Amino acid sequence: MKKTKTGIKHGNKRKPRLRSSRNGDRFAEVTARLAEIGKGFYARGWVLGTSGNFSAVLSREPLRLAITSTGLDKGSLTPAQFLEMDEQANVVRGEGRPSAEALLHPAIVRGVDAGAVLHTHSVWSTVLSGTHAAHGGIALEGFEMLKGLEGVRTHKHREWLPILENSQDMVELADRVTALLRESPGIHGFLLQGHGLYTWGVGLREAKRHIEILEFLMEVLVRSGAAQAS
Ligand SMILES: [Zn+2]
Repeated sequence: MKKTKTGIKHGNKRKPRLRSSRNGDRFAEVTARLAEIGKGFYARGWVLGTSGNFSAVLSREPLRLAITSTGLDKGSLTPAQFLEMDEQANVVRGEGRPSAEALLHPAIVRGVDAGAVLHTHSVWSTVLSGTHAAHGGIALEGFEMLKGLEGVRTHKHREWLPILENSQDMVELADRVTALLRESPGIHGFLLQGHGLYTWGVGLREAKRHIEILEFLMEVLVRSGAAQAS
């Protein structure tokens, strides 16, 4: 009897601590995974010179994201270099400040109900977003690798990768991203001209796969063009 009482008492006492520890665990788990993904992207040459940023949703109401702070060498990312921010990119946990582009992440999370958003600055996206800017996007069609995009079942799928004009006004750009996502249901990512790729997923695993697929396909297009020209 005494034992049971003690047990209940302990259980009640520990409840708030367990809850906060679960939140802490989630932040620790997500940032460890984000750091690992970032280092992998750096090794592929997709986020050189402190470029790129990565986020994952910690909670939806209120919206909280774990996100890279600005100016980090992505080749040596650690979980301690991540922040928790709210929908307006205010820091609620961690040291440093989010990148100027951080506002695009909540816009994407809200726009497509994503659980993770990943952004790279590869040579391939930089080249193609310039050469195809006049068309407003790039059509990806006929590639087996397209089946790595969520919901795509055949190489015959035609994936449209829109190109948005780049900007340093992130409030204005976030509005254009929101409009794009509303007007283009089913897309898996978009390019900013002369800048890079944004993609997302229900979680980090899917978002990472989308970066790998889209970067692969863009590299194929650039190399195919170079091969045909020579
Ligand atoms: Zn960028």
